[in-house]
Amino acid sequence: MPADAKPSPEAVTYSCEACGNQMTFLAALPKTARHEAVRIFRCYACNAVRTERS
Ligand SMILES: [Zn+2]
Repeated sequence: MPADAKPSPEAVTYSCEACGNQMTFLAALPKTARHEAVRIFRCYACNAVRTERS
């Protein structure tokens, strides 16, 4: 984890289901006509990506 990372409201964390490391918030996609709003998290240890409906 970077030492200079600032805390933010988006700093919700998840544990990677593949390797157990902490996942990093990557992006938030707004709700559209076809998709619900989702937040994307990435595990930098194994590059797994997880999306969470908000
Ligand atoms: Zn992982």
